[in-house]
Amino acid sequence: MKNVELIIIGGGPIGIACGLAANNKGIDYLIIEKGTIVNSLYHYPVNMQFFSSSEKLEIDSIPFISKEAKPKRDEALEYYRRIVTSNQLNINLFETVKEVNKTEELFTVNTTKGTYTSRFLILATGFYDIPNLLNIPGEDLPKVSHYYNDPHLYAMQKVAVIGASNSAVDAALECYRKGAEVSMIIRGESISDRVKYWVKPDIENRIKEGSIDVFYNSTVKEIKPIFIIIDTPKGEKTLENNFVLALTGYKPNFHFLKHLGVNLSNDDSQIPEYNEETMETNVKGLYLAGVICGGMETHKWFIENSRVHAKKILEDISSKHTVLDTKN
Ligand SMILES: Cc1cc2nc3c(=O)[nH]c(=O)nc-3n(C[C@H](O)[C@H](O)[C@H](O)COP(=O)(O)OP(=O)(O)OC[C@H]3O[C@@H](n4cnc5c(N)ncnc54)[C@H](O)[C@@H]3O)c2cc1C
Repeated sequence: MKNVELIIIGGGPIGIACGLAANNKGIDYLIIEKGTIVNSLYHYPVNMQFFSSSEKLEIDSIPFISKEAKPKRDEALEYYRRIVTSNQLNINLFETVKEVNKTEELFTVNTTKGTYTSRFLILATGFYDIPNLLNIPGEDLPKVSHYYNDPHLYAMQKVAVIGASNSAVDAALECYRKGAEVSMIIRGESISDRVKYWVKPDIENRIKEGSIDVFYNSTVKEIKPIFIIIDTPKGEKTLENNFVLALTGYKPNFHFLKHLGVNLSNDDSQIPEYNEETMETNVKGLYLAGVICGGMETHKWFIENSRVHAKKILEDISSKHTVLDTKN
């Protein structure tokens, strides 16, 4: 069993920012990441372009230079990877945290590769691992995916895109432009107002001209191997179909939060309780960083506005760390 002063679960942009901040404060830390460096970003669509300009994605004021104002996925991978390697951050990759327990003063962290103890713990596990399921028959068919990657796969195919937010709209437009026959199935009555302002007119015009088919106020009822059944305001409709992209969002893993006794709000948002100045939860020594802070409201926190969490947390930990050192 290895003891570390601070364990950071999750090597996304915000977990890495926490590692850098710990490095700067001279605090012994370890980041444990279940996949590769910035694993969520690695799994984003290959052609994805951030809505933030590059300086807003910078951590620890390390310059992020991109070709255009808003960087692409591959540029972000370069940026965060170089930060990890150049600063020789302590990060264990492809190691999944399975369980965390707390005794009086220490956290015990069990992973797929070992057991660690720490006095402080930061949960920076993001939200991209668990899709919001449709819970309908046929959702488990191989032609259904809750993640979109590369439009080439869908050329000359009939593709149903479920959802009305940025991910769904980007997928619909890209697939259409690579020769797919795209239908969007949208629960509400319009494309989401949160869709990037420079993309919204594009999708609305493609719908208006009939290049992309759309069913508003509709839901998919069942998915079959060669068609789907949708409930529309005009009754049930059967659509021929080869692929379904169910891009209906993702949710954080509440498992560690609940298990460790973090209070969650009683409404649907399940927002965890934490001190906004320090990011410490109601469980002493347990901090939250990044998108996990929003509970089910996953749109509230993103890299731009949550990178500050790292500094807040490490200020607090380092003040407690010093107190302990002085006592010793
Ligand atoms: C398509 C898309 C475009 C976006 N564009 C922008 C943008 O332009 N600007 C912006 O600011 N934000 C953007 N975001 C949001 C942004 O990517 C997230 O808010 C950000 O990744 C959050 O960082 P994080 O470190 O909190 O979480 P994540 O990046 O999700 O990192 C969490 C990490 O924890 C790891 N992990 C999870 N569970 C475990 C476990 N049990 N053990 C070990 N490791 C674990 C995961 O593998 C992952 O690497 C976008 C999101 C999407 C989906």
